[in-house]
Amino acid sequence: MRIFERRESEVRGYIRSFPAIFDTAKGALLYDEQGKRYVDFFSGAGTLNYGHNNPDITGALIAYLEGHGVIHGLDKATVAKRNFLQKLEDTILLPRHLDYKVQFTGPTGTNAVETALKLARLVKQRSSILAFTNAYHGLTMGALAVTGNSFYRDESYGIRANTAFMPYDGYLGPEVDTIDYLRRYLEDGSSGLDLPAAAIVETVQAEGGVNVARDEWLQDLEHLCREFDILLIVDDIQAGNGRTGPFFSFERAGITPDMVTMSKSIGGGLPLALLLMRPELDQWQPGEHTGTFRGNNLAFVAATEALRYWDNDKLSDAVLFKGAIMKEALESMLEKSPGCELRGCGMIWGLDLKKNGAAKEVSKAAFEKGMLIETSGCDSQVLKLLPPLTIEEPLLKEGLNIIDEALEETVRSKTVFAVGSAL
Ligand code: PMP
Repeated sequence: MRIFERRESEVRGYIRSFPAIFDTAKGALLYDEQGKRYVDFFSGAGTLNYGHNNPDITGALIAYLEGHGVIHGLDKATVAKRNFLQKLEDTILLPRHLDYKVQFTGPTGTNAVETALKLARLVKQRSSILAFTNAYHGLTMGALAVTGNSFYRDESYGIRANTAFMPYDGYLGPEVDTIDYLRRYLEDGSSGLDLPAAAIVETVQAEGGVNVARDEWLQDLEHLCREFDILLIVDDIQAGNGRTGPFFSFERAGITPDMVTMSKSIGGGLPLALLLMRPELDQWQPGEHTGTFRGNNLAFVAATEALRYWDNDKLSDAVLFKGAIMKEALESMLEKSPGCELRGCGMIWGLDLKKNGAAKEVSKAAFEKGMLIETSGCDSQVLKLLPPLTIEEPLLKEGLNIIDEALEETVRSKTVFAVGSAL
C-alpha cells in the first residue's frame, strides 16, 4: 500500500479524481513523475489564474528568498507587505475609484469569509446572515453555515443557526425574479426572516454549478441591501482575479459591495486571503481578530508581481478573447449533446450534462487523455472549465478537443441525453 493510502486521511479527494503523482508544472501544463503531460483546465480550483510557476512570480520569489527577505511576520510591517498594499492601491483600487481597507486574514478563502461574516455581525449588531441557494463559501463552521451543498454538512455540526437561504438568480426558473421574492420576505414582518446583518453572494457560483447572476439581478440585490440596511458581501475568491474578465467579478454589474473576500489567485499561487471593506466598517479593536499566518510575506511578493498583469488591459482583453474561443467550442459540443446547457462568462464555463455524475465520467476520460478538469454542481453534473488565464491559444484548443473526445467516449456514446432530460 502506498504511503498516501497508508497514512493520509480518508478525506483526501483530488488525489482520487486525478490518480497520478505530480511532479513539475509550468504554465497550463502539469507533469507526473513518469513525465506524462497533462493540460490543466482546473488551475488549482482558481488559484493558478497566472499559471503554474509563472516565471515573473517565481523570479521575484527566488530573489526575495536569496535576499533573506522576512518570510513570517505575523501582521508586523514589512517591506513585502508595504509593496503589496501600495501595488493594490495603485493598480486595482484607485483606478476603479474603490475605497476599501484591507484586512489580512488567515491564508485560505474560508478564513476571509469567516472574517467578513464576523465583522458584519459586529458592525450591525445582528446575528443573521443571508446566503443563496447553491452557494459555496468554504468549510469552516461559519462559512459552512452559508454553503448550500448538503454533502458538506451534517446535522451534528449544529451550525445552521442565524443563517437563511434565499433563491439565487434563476433558481425558481426564468419567470421568477428572486429579488422580488426576497423583497417580500424582508417587507413582511411575519415572514419569519430575521433582518440580516449581511447578504453574501458569488456573482458566478463556481462550485455550485457555474451559475451566472445577471447584471440586473446583482444591481437589484445591491439596491435591496441598501434599502434594508443589509451589508452586501461579494465572495470573489474564485470568480475574482480576472476570471470573468475584469479584475473583480462584480465590475460588470457596476455594483460596489460593502465587503469583498479574496483568496486563491490573489497570492499568485501561494496562500493568501484578504477582506476588503468600506473604511467605516473597519470597526475592529487592534488585535481583535488575529491569526498566526496572516502575514504571508512570500505570498505578498508573489501577489505584488501578479498584480503587474493589471498594469494595462492586456490580460482582461485576453480573457475575453480566449473566453470566446471556449464558448464557441463548447457551443459546438452542445449541438452534439441535446438537452445539455452551457453557462459561464470570461474564462469560467460550465457544461451542464443534466445527469448525476456524468461530469465525473467525462473528467475521468479526459484525465486518461492527459487533462485535469473538475466537476461542479451538487450532483457532479456540471463539467467546469477553468484553465489558467495565461494559457496559450494552441493549448487551450488542445484542451477543448480533449473535452470533445471525452464527451464522445462517455456520455454521448451512451446516449444519456434524452432531449429535455432534467435532473
Ligand atoms: N468561496 C468561494 C467562492 C470558493 O470557491 C472557495 C473555494 N472553492 C472558498 C470560498 C473557500 O476557499 P478555501 O478552500 O481556500 O477555504
